[in-house]
Amino acid sequence: MLTRKIKVGNIYIGGDAPVSVQSMCNTNTEDVCATVSQILALEKLGCDVIRVAVNTEGAARAVGEIKKQIHIPLVADIQFDYKMAVAAAENGADKIRINPGNIGSADKVKYLADLLNERGIPIRVGVNEGSLEKRLKGVNPVDALVQSAAGHLEILERAGFYNTVVSIKSSSVPVTVAACKAFAEKFDYPQHIGVTEAGVTTRGLIKNSAGIGALLLSGVGSTVRVSLAADPCEEVIAANMLLTALGLKRGSEVIACPTCARTTIDVSSLADAVEELLTDADGLKVAVMGCVVNGVGEAGNADFGVAGGVGKSAIFEKGVVTKTVDNNDVLAELKALIEKYKVKK
Ligand code: SF4
Repeated sequence: MLTRKIKVGNIYIGGDAPVSVQSMCNTNTEDVCATVSQILALEKLGCDVIRVAVNTEGAARAVGEIKKQIHIPLVADIQFDYKMAVAAAENGADKIRINPGNIGSADKVKYLADLLNERGIPIRVGVNEGSLEKRLKGVNPVDALVQSAAGHLEILERAGFYNTVVSIKSSSVPVTVAACKAFAEKFDYPQHIGVTEAGVTTRGLIKNSAGIGALLLSGVGSTVRVSLAADPCEEVIAANMLLTALGLKRGSEVIACPTCARTTIDVSSLADAVEELLTDADGLKVAVMGCVVNGVGEAGNADFGVAGGVGKSAIFEKGVVTKTVDNNDVLAELKALIEKYKVKK
């Protein structure tokens, strides 16, 4: 669904902009060195927008220092204190995550809205099923989430502010999906999507993939965060893999067969090792198949790959076997092919 286009630092969210990947630092924002080094690692993995918590004056000042050393837009996450939002904006934050309903008086909202309008800094309003306003008690969660978001937007619009991205999250996949879709029917603000408090890695990955996947495939969502109780690098890797799987990003991927009694090589470890080699490659499809009987044919749409054999395995390119190598040399061979194809692409 077409939404308005919001400029965040040097990228756009919404409109015809590609779906962007976000994450959040888990370092102390005042520790500029640790925060910058985490952001640089995330940038390398394909993070497009990064958020840091701004909960102290020191953290607001650190925003300015961090900004000088990174290359992607920085979002300042504010809980309630609008003065913190003002300080973060004055220190160069590219977006402010704050809920206007938590700021207090209309004067304070107006002051912040005017400052951000002047500087072209957008706001992200984020509503979460776990922290809805008391007035929405008893309303079904989907309607309550949409009404909460609408309430915050109304406050901003009254202050003349329309440069907003909205996130609507729940730890329930069906509630998140239904609420984001219902919001998209009524508003053209771009949405930051994800499933919150999704749990530790495997469950978190499944819940986020189900929720984000369902939304993006139905045309809802302009920027994503795969929230995981894990290193933020895991979030960015997962988000990029998800966008690639949905055909929304030209990433690289490993196709691995599910293995069966015919399997002759350690498909799982080999596929993991290849996946690591592909982190900085774009648009490659590499197959790791357990046997030559079906492997080459089944992986016909891969750029290249391996089909395992006893002692020796077949290396193929575009569905044609080009050589046979000792099983101990398979990874080195695939590494060489990745380098060769990286240059070609
Ligand atoms: Fe089994 Fe071979 Fe298919 Fe892998 S490619 S699942 S080993 S038949």
